[in-house]
Amino acid sequence: ADNFGAGPTGLPLPVLQRVLDEGLSYGDSGMSVMEMSHRSRWYDEIQASAETRLRRLLNLPEEFSVLFLQGGASLQFAMIPMNFLGAGQTAGYVTTGSFAKKAYSEAKKVGSVRIIASSEDSGFRTLPAIEGSQVPQDLAYVHFTSNNTIYGTQWQTWPTDVVPPVVADMSSDILSRPIDANRFHLIYAGAQKNLGIAGLTVVLVNQSWVHDKSVAGLPSMLSYQTHLDNDSRYNTPPAFAVYVLSVLLEWIEEQGGLPAITARNEEKARLLYGVLDNSDGFYQGVAEANVRSKMNVTFRLQNQDLEPEFLSAAKAAGFVGLGGHRSVGGCRVSLYNAVDLAQVERLLTFMQTFRSKH
Ligand code: PLP
Repeated sequence: ADNFGAGPTGLPLPVLQRVLDEGLSYGDSGMSVMEMSHRSRWYDEIQASAETRLRRLLNLPEEFSVLFLQGGASLQFAMIPMNFLGAGQTAGYVTTGSFAKKAYSEAKKVGSVRIIASSEDSGFRTLPAIEGSQVPQDLAYVHFTSNNTIYGTQWQTWPTDVVPPVVADMSSDILSRPIDANRFHLIYAGAQKNLGIAGLTVVLVNQSWVHDKSVAGLPSMLSYQTHLDNDSRYNTPPAFAVYVLSVLLEWIEEQGGLPAITARNEEKARLLYGVLDNSDGFYQGVAEANVRSKMNVTFRLQNQDLEPEFLSAAKAAGFVGLGGHRSVGGCRVSLYNAVDLAQVERLLTFMQTFRSKH
């Protein structure tokens, strides 16, 4: 099927094939990656490959550590304030969608937080303007959501001159485009969109921030310092998900790395938005044009009563995952890295045909 789901989503076929061929009988180990010890030399090799490739692809500065954790991006919503929101401090949140609001609500359970900017008034169709110089300098950190998976908006540029440490949830657009990691103190992402399969959460964090600013006395599993000190192996890691990530990263390198992936993602989004914008209003993009996401394209049919028919016809034609999130309805096409141009072209042909029939 052509999988346009928002996550979990498809893997590139060559990645899936290699995982099946190699992952089920790894090297000279005589076992699958699912069965081996996380202290074995084979797993050492797998985790090192994932870390090295991630560092290389993202051009990650030395002062960052790469952590392979569990609990999804949702656990990070809590872990970030637990570790970095000390007594007497306040953290700032930019609420631009459902997950951003969840991050805020979780942090509120831990300590003092405030919303420094929001796009809720626009129904999350826009992103707020942020003047870095107006962000209070004494905040413990400022939290952003890079790409708003449900509403289909994405920061195109990052506000400059924000003084407090910047934390970003990049769950739905990590590795879809280059980032300047120097602008961030912590970046996190659940793996099940652009990093492979569920069960793994990748956290990229500035080591000195952890050393210097972490709240003391946290339960071990909830402390970044624990995972830093133990090379992400304080307890048993999700070895198979780390393995899938390593294979996926190698595939991205073979494609030409982030420059090539970015160009492909831009082209996919350009084609799809082009069809929406040139449909005489039959299809209507939800997000405001200047903040449109290249990963999750949200749209409605002018005649919303036709949407169930559109979705079922799409399903019958082999397109999976086109329904909008259950909280907002409508339609959504997710264009993660694994989706190729040919799949988008097939979908667009279907959409044009559906439109001419109606
Ligand atoms: N943040 C964003 C931007 C997401 O899109 C999602 C899931 O779709 C989450 C967080 C929650 O991630 P998880 O299911 O890994 O906890």
